[in-house]
Amino acid sequence: MTCNEFIDFLIDYYEGNLSEERRRLFEEHMGVCPDCVAYLDSYKKTINLVQESMANPNAELDDDVPHELVMAILAAKPK
Ligand SMILES: [Zn+2]
Repeated sequence: MTCNEFIDFLIDYYEGNLSEERRRLFEEHMGVCPDCVAYLDSYKKTINLVQESMANPNAELDDDVPHELVMAILAAKPK
């Protein structure tokens, strides 16, 4: 699995929608690629922040959160 594939599967992995085989490849990639592990971490953190900010519209997003990442997550949200 490449880093691009990893990122493509990130949302499905997070939501538990990956097939057994994909999930195994995904976790295998995590074992060899610290960059993607860090990406997954910041992804989870960002989702939490986004969910908090939706629950509380007056809350401000942390400046640490990359704007593109927030936009990507919001765009990927199930309708
Ligand atoms: Zn990677």
